[in-house]
Amino acid sequence: MAVQRTFSIIKPDATRRNLTGKINALLEAGGLRIVAQKRIWMTKGQAEAFYGVHKERPFFGSLVAFMTSGPVVVQVLEGEDAVAKNREIMGATNPANAAEGTIRKTFAESIEANSAHGSDSIENAAIEIAYFFSGLEIVG
Ligand code: ADP
Ligand code: MG
Repeated sequence: MAVQRTFSIIKPDATRRNLTGKINALLEAGGLRIVAQKRIWMTKGQAEAFYGVHKERPFFGSLVAFMTSGPVVVQVLEGEDAVAKNREIMGATNPANAAEGTIRKTFAESIEANSAHGSDSIENAAIEIAYFFSGLEIVG
């Protein structure tokens, strides 16, 4: 397995409860290095574009409202097999189905307010990283 980069978001339900450090600790304990990180408040347009793949889904409007309801922490994570590793550390989308010890099992409030985002492929990771970060902001 090669060293990869993936894109991560600590979602508004988690920043609201001051969980950034606890989530970062799980990412780091899982072997991922936070090579870029910033706290932002997404606009409606930014959230709609970021989640454009889901625009036909019934939860799209609610998801955009949630993702713009407070600040988020956007991150680039680096490590061996980082895309799959981050998905493993996050756990299943629905916290009811997430494994013990995962971010979502431990912290998520609901299937929507599920505390973290992680890219689902190397290709999407590259697109998502480039959407939020310039190369100069990523320090490996
Ligand atoms: P994941 O974040 O695990 O990759 P998806 O890409 O399928 O999951 O969905 C993106 C986000 O949309 C989820 O993380 C969650 O916040 C929200 N979401 C997904 N499914 C639902 C649902 N059935 N109801 C409400 N929100 C949902
Ligand atoms: Mg997804």
